[in-house]
Parts: sequence; C-alpha cells; structure tokens
Amino acid sequence: MYTIGVDLGATFVKMGIVDSKARVSYRRKIQTPSGVKKSHLIDIIVCNIRDIIKESGKKVSGVGIGVPGPVDSEKGIVHYFPNIKGWKEVPLESILKKRLGLRVKLDNDVNVTTLGEFVFGSGKGCENLVCITLGTGVGGGIIINGKLYRGGSMVAGEIGHMPINETGPECNCRGIACLERYIGNRYILERARKVFGNSATLEKLSALARSGNKKAIAIWLDVAKKLSVTLIGVVNLLNPDKIVIGGGVSKAGPLILVPLSKEIKSRAMKDQARHVKICLAKLGADAGIIGASLLV
Ligand SMILES: [Zn+2]
Repeated sequence: MYTIGVDLGATFVKMGIVDSKARVSYRRKIQTPSGVKKSHLIDIIVCNIRDIIKESGKKVSGVGIGVPGPVDSEKGIVHYFPNIKGWKEVPLESILKKRLGLRVKLDNDVNVTTLGEFVFGSGKGCENLVCITLGTGVGGGIIINGKLYRGGSMVAGEIGHMPINETGPECNCRGIACLERYIGNRYILERARKVFGNSATLEKLSALARSGNKKAIAIWLDVAKKLSVTLIGVVNLLNPDKIVIGGGVSKAGPLILVPLSKEIKSRAMKDQARHVKICLAKLGADAGIIGASLLV
C-alpha cells in the first residue's frame, strides 16, 4: 500500500511516496518561489505528484498534505497562510481531489508532524503526547488518549503563543510575552548577533556552545529555561507520557534538552514529573512527508 505525503512549506514543497513502514521514496524537494501565486503553487503540487506517480509506477491510494497555517481539516479548507500571501478560505482538498482523481486529506503541518512522531517516531507506543516544533514559529501538537486533540474550532496546540509573563514584547498574534517571542529562531539569532556579531547563525551558536563558550552556553540555557516555563505548565496540566521536541532549533540537541529536562523534572508536580519523558523527534526532515501520508 502506497500513499503520497506532501509537506507544503513557505520555503520548500517536499513530497514522496510512503509505504506502510514509513519508508519514503521518489522524493521531491522544490523551492517555494517567493511571492508565488496561489494557482501557480497548486500547479507545482499537482505536476510533481503526477510526476512521481508516473516515475514510480506504483499504485497510490491517496495524498495527504500538511500545510503551514490554520485549516479546517474536516472540510479540507485552508483558512490562511501566515507566510504565503493570497490564500484565504481555499478548499485545497477538493481542488486537489478534482485535479488528481485521488483521495486527498489535509491538515496543519504541526499536527501532521505530531502524527508522524506518534505513529512511527519518538512517540511510538505513547497514548498521551505533546510534540513541539521549534523553528521560526513555535508550534505544538497534542495527542490525548491516542487521538489528535484539535479543540473547539480546530486550532488547538498553539504552545508558542502561551504567554510566559504578565508583561513583555508584543507578538504578531496580538498577544504579549508569548513563548515564541522569546525563543522563535529569529529572536535567538538576534541575541546571538548582539554578542557574536552579524555573521552569527544558530549552527555557529551551537558549535560555540559545544566547544565551551560560556556566552553561547548562556543563550541556549536561557532558551531552555524559557521553554521549561511553558512545558512545566503543560506537564502539570496534561500529564503526558512524552514531550517530543522537533524543528530546526532542536538541532541544538542536548544544549536544550539537558537543561530543559532538569528544569521539568525538578519543578513540575511530582507524579507528572516522574512520569514524563522528554526526547528529541526521530523522523527529522521526513516528519512532514511521513505524517502527511498518514492522513490517508
Ligand atoms: Zn503570540
């Protein structure tokens, strides 16, 4: 049984054919053209899907697609994309269905990543799981009793927009002192550039910290502490089996994970703290494709 997973992002469109053991083949990675028109982006998706089906010669049972913004996953409608212009209430599912003649399901990218980790990644075997993606945005997906928790109007999981303070910087979600406003990658980079100059990158910041640079270690430690403030609340509230940390910023690995686990284990309520495991995501760059394929 083969399905196609599509990971639509503001920077890249990635896709591949996925088998029942989550092995990905016939990958495509296409740069999302900047300022791309909606119709053109849909063409790119459709043409590449047709291409890989033809190239592989496989019989494909459907297409799952993860998208970078809020959606109505029941109706298959994209509400909007914060980082791609021109998308407003677009019935993407039915458009693709019509053009491809295949079953299509869509969902938000963080939910899709969470599903992937839940079924095939670090969350395998858990019933209650919170998955966090650390990148430009800070996203969250929640599995409760083995099912994705979507909330009343299907937009639950916005961990990055939980305030960690009463006052603080404004966030573009209209909130104040949101977690993302402190540990979204552009804000970590801002801090790094103040200390190490304009050529600083997150990779360099990690490398410096690993080589023992105290100022670099201090920045990662602060990221971990801010994240822990939110996650201690999440752990106390939801009593998850696992917290899975993914996304580009999580490449800092133990620099975040070690102090984060320490904070949670020592500050969350006893039973919750003892039970929860904090780990890194396993599926890496393929999480979006594999998770999306699970939608169908
Ligand atoms: Zn916010």
